[in-house]
Parts: sequence; structure tokens; C-alpha cells
Amino acid sequence: MNRRPGFPARLDGLAQQGPAPAPRTPPAARVAAPVAQRPAGVGLDSQAIRARMVTRLAAAGIADARVLAAMGRIERHRFVDSALGNQAYEDTSLPIGLGQTISKPSVVARMVELLLGALPAGGRLGRVLEIGTGCGYQAAVLGEVASEVYSIERLRGLHEKARENLRPFRLPNVHLLFGDGMQGFAKGAPYAGIIAAAGGDAVPQAWIDQLAVGGRIIAPTVMPDRRQALVVLERTPREVRRSVLEGVHFVPLKSGIA
Ligand code: SAH
Repeated sequence: MNRRPGFPARLDGLAQQGPAPAPRTPPAARVAAPVAQRPAGVGLDSQAIRARMVTRLAAAGIADARVLAAMGRIERHRFVDSALGNQAYEDTSLPIGLGQTISKPSVVARMVELLLGALPAGGRLGRVLEIGTGCGYQAAVLGEVASEVYSIERLRGLHEKARENLRPFRLPNVHLLFGDGMQGFAKGAPYAGIIAAAGGDAVPQAWIDQLAVGGRIIAPTVMPDRRQALVVLERTPREVRRSVLEGVHFVPLKSGIA
């Protein structure tokens, strides 16, 4: 019984619509193969689809080569339900259970690019804190551009799901934590970057306290007109600079665990 029919089956269809090369093995054999033993052909197909997503991200204004490379490497289809796998490389947010969503690729790329900020080309960020692990996708992307990633999730079910999703990637620098991210994670501080995947009414003081000098916080925040916008806080030796950027739609930042 094939338990993951959606993604490879539809990928074959997509690949045939474009100029992608013919599959190297018969689709039926590839669909039936368990994840660990899939022939290289499946990986190559999804790689071509990701490459197209990266082209679209670049056309939409994402310029940082590190971000584009990370988005091209991390297999987003592995983070969503197999029934949604055929939408994994569209620019859309998708449900991940417990009322939460995985952000659109363009939003992940934009936020990670903002987090890298003025870091010189080729450089790697130091320690990063992510609030809201969700399915673990953005944590994996961050793992490609930062030396260490601490990602905290308040819903146990999603924390466990992310752990499972991330296992095959074997990312020794991505650390998943279960807890209330409103408090940050003091043990890993100071952070070169803090990124929130959920929108609160204000950026918690704990995050600012745990930010290194020269570091940045990227956080969707509810504005006085009740709409959310991306807020960037930069810590300089003397002050914390705040910029408000474009409007966004994130799930709410909530306190406590569940
Ligand atoms: N980056 C995630 C997006 C998940 S959606 C991904 O790639 O899938 C945002 C997540 O933030 C939800 O899972 C939600 O449960 C979580 N969240 C909300 N408030 C939180 C808090 N105070 N601490 C930790 N996680 C929180």
C-alpha cells in the first residue's frame, strides 16, 4: 500500500508539463519506493521544481545568494501532509495541523533575507532563535545560513511533528525546543538574529534583551490599526532601531504551552 501517493505522482505530472528531462526510472517504481530507498530520480524531479521556485523568488526581488541556495536545497514537500505535496512549491501558505500554517516560500525567503541584513556576502550568521517552529521548514532553511538555530514551539504536537520532519535532514546545528517562546531562550543568548513566525501585539522585551549588539529581530507585529506588519529591530551599541515594513498575515503569537 503506497502511503505517500500525492507528491511524487503529481511531481511527475508537473515535470512533464515543463522542459524537465524524462524520469530515469518508471514512475510506478518510484512512487512505491519507501522514503529511505527512493532512487535518485525523485530527488532530481523535486530539485527541478525547487529550482523553478527559486527563479520565481529571485524575480520577486530576493537577491541574497545564501537565501536562494537554502530555499533550493530544503525540500519543502517533506514538511507538509502528503495530500498537499503537490502544492509544496507554490507560493502559498498551507495548513500543518492544530490550526497553524507553514508560511509562503516568498515570506520565508524575505524574512531570512532581512535577518541576514548587511552580513557580508559568503558570511554565515551566528546563533539564531526562531519563535514558532511549526512544521520545522523555516528552521531547516535557517540551519543553512546560521551556525546554530534554536527553534521553540509552544504546541507539543507540532514540536514533535517538526522533530520527525527534520530527522532525515540530519541538521546537527538545528535544536528544537518545546516551550513558550515569549520568554525567548536565555540559555542560547545572545543571538545574532531572532525571527518570529507568529505575530504579537508587541515585540517581547525578553527577545530584545537576548539580542547581541549588531543583531536583528524580524517579527510580524500587530499595528495600531490591527493589521500586522513586519517589524525589524536592530540593536546598535547605543540604541534599538525599529523599522516597520510591509503588511503580513501570520498566526497569532500566544503565551503558554499546550
Ligand atoms: N516557521 C513555521 C511556521 C509555523 S506557524 C514553519 O516553517 O512551519 C507559527 C507557529 O508559532 C505555530 O506553530 C504556533 O504554535 C507557534 N507559536 C505561537 N506563539 C508561540 C510562542 N509563544 N512560543 C512558541 N511558539 C509559538
